[in-house]
Amino acid sequence: MNKNIAVIRGDGIGPEIVNEALKVLDKAARLYGHTFTYTDVDMGGCAIDKYGDPLPESELKKCLESDSVLLGAVGGDKWNNVPGDKRPEKGLLRLRAGMGVYSNNRPAKIWRQLASASPLKPSIVEKGIDFIIVRELIGGIYFGEHKTSGDTATDVMAYSESEIERIGRIGFETARKRNKRLCSVEKSNVLDTSRLWKKVMIRLSEQYPDVELSHMLVDNCAMQIVKNPAQFDVIVTENMFGDILSDEASMITGSIGMIPSSSLGDTTVGLYEPIHGSAPDIAGLNIANPIGTILSAAMMLKYSFDMSDESDAIEKAVYDVLEEGYRCADIMPSDADTCTMVGCSEMGQLILDKLGGPSI
Ligand code: NAD
Repeated sequence: MNKNIAVIRGDGIGPEIVNEALKVLDKAARLYGHTFTYTDVDMGGCAIDKYGDPLPESELKKCLESDSVLLGAVGGDKWNNVPGDKRPEKGLLRLRAGMGVYSNNRPAKIWRQLASASPLKPSIVEKGIDFIIVRELIGGIYFGEHKTSGDTATDVMAYSESEIERIGRIGFETARKRNKRLCSVEKSNVLDTSRLWKKVMIRLSEQYPDVELSHMLVDNCAMQIVKNPAQFDVIVTENMFGDILSDEASMITGSIGMIPSSSLGDTTVGLYEPIHGSAPDIAGLNIANPIGTILSAAMMLKYSFDMSDESDAIEKAVYDVLEEGYRCADIMPSDADTCTMVGCSEMGQLILDKLGGPSI
């Protein structure tokens, strides 16, 4: 299969971590008989320096013409004083809107080898943490009318059936590619939008008889994520609930450097990026953890290119490298006797060396 990937290295540690992910993608392509071509896209601070704009139309066009976009991270102190609409993060918002990605998908996975980094009790972590939160990204209360009149402020939360249905579909499709269990999270005991949400999910479930649908109130879900995270496979929820729950879920896994994400819309063209920022404090030092970006590339293969075997092989390579005790600085345990600390490029090379496949 031939795929054209738009590559945004961005700022700070972005170029370092993306380079490692590209090497892994290249090897996966060789092993499985694919051709990946890369189109470089300038976005963020580097684009401000070059064009005076964090995402010029010409760069956005390259993304829209690609089969998917891989992003490192953007931003940094250097651009803190540029006007609001020219800030590096504006480029990212414009990219998400331009691509029409209304679904943000963030896995919460604890790697067995990093269990001690979780703030949860070992008895909970031992049962395993491996779920995805599918969050509606461009609707709900963040996009409703906001107004303050006298001593009263109002924020409007509105959802239409079609908005719920399209994100619900992503939830069901994601569950289908995993363990076929979908938990729809809302607040239907109080909110009309949630009652509509639940109704649409139940209706949609008729089209996905192979997926087991359950329902949970958001306050209970917040408790269950720390009490018994092993129960979840895929969670689907609206924008604000998803914002809060996905941050909670990423905390229980231990390190920010390990977590990938994807954002998808109506097509298979997605935006894939680690959840962390550009980490200017460690940029250029070759100590950043590239695993979040490498796993983002693996997500791209699974969810945009339908290459599950290739994606699983990359995840297995990461697992094997961790199993052998190699760690970047951010995931190095304080009791380091059994682990070896490696830099960004060394970690990338180790994962590359472990990556196996059918070798055509
Ligand atoms: P950050 O995620 O960049 O860094 C927070 C801390 O985590 C830092 O100590 C950093 O060194 C560490 N860290 C982050 N990623 C790491 C990795 N892969 N390996 C090892 N350590 C890692 O958050 P911040 O410091 O609040 O923001 C820095 C810049 O990034 C800001 O300009 C912010 O606006 C931007 N940002 C960009 C994105 C994005 O591009 N999607 C997201 C968040 C923040």
